[in-house]
Amino acid sequence: MIAVAVAGAAGRMGETVCRAVTAAQDMELVGRADPRLSTAVADVLEEADVLVDFTTPTTALANARLAVAAGVHVVIGTTGFDLSELEGLSGANVFAAPNFAIGAVLMMKFAAEAARHMAAAEIVELHHDRKLDRPSGTAARTAELMGGGVPIHSVRLPGLVAHQEVILGDVGQTLTIRHDSTDRESFMPGVLLAIRRVGELERTPVIGLEQLL
Ligand code: NAD
Repeated sequence: MIAVAVAGAAGRMGETVCRAVTAAQDMELVGRADPRLSTAVADVLEEADVLVDFTTPTTALANARLAVAAGVHVVIGTTGFDLSELEGLSGANVFAAPNFAIGAVLMMKFAAEAARHMAAAEIVELHHDRKLDRPSGTAARTAELMGGGVPIHSVRLPGLVAHQEVILGDVGQTLTIRHDSTDRESFMPGVLLAIRRVGELERTPVIGLEQLL
């Protein structure tokens, strides 16, 4: 059994992760940290093998530091902070992914491939209006994988979950690659995979779900 604690457990993603971990036969949910539950991350680490973090751009790094210092592996889904800050954290393994949905990973891969063949590209990312960061971590990562310098447009509206279009243009043609997460369940297979694998990583940190596939 993998003992899992969740940081941001009262949030939109954290609640979904708690349900998925509870339903997984090989995992046990041992802690739910969130200021809204009056429980701090430090209070849930003792029994945990893995901490899953879906919190905020200003708290994820400090949570990861606390966890690895306690020998607890970390799976980070939080976006909007500088992932290079995870370099050098030691004591346990760190895995982070800006997007845990398999369709989004494929969208990024296809966009990187297409960028090698078409003259120009722009990214439109669309998210729910409570999202704190812009551009999204997924859009920033896509632009990086496409070689950088790709303009990103951010749309924030109620009714949306997480969506992205990569539009590539060349003489007389465009190519649009689009991914839609219409439900937060789309991220759960990726999160559970990362929880199962984070303890056996050969280096740390590892960034991107594609590294585990
Ligand atoms: P949310 O606002 O619904 O939830 C965040 C929760 O974190 C809140 O309940 C808040 O009280 C809690 N929190 C704040 N500080 C904390 C701390 N120090 N310790 C523990 N909990 C703390 O946000 P959300 O929509 O669930 O998104 C959370 C993060 O996940 C965002 O950064 C978002 O961009 C990211 N996200 C990533 C993916 C992915 O696939 N990687 C998918 C969706 C969302």
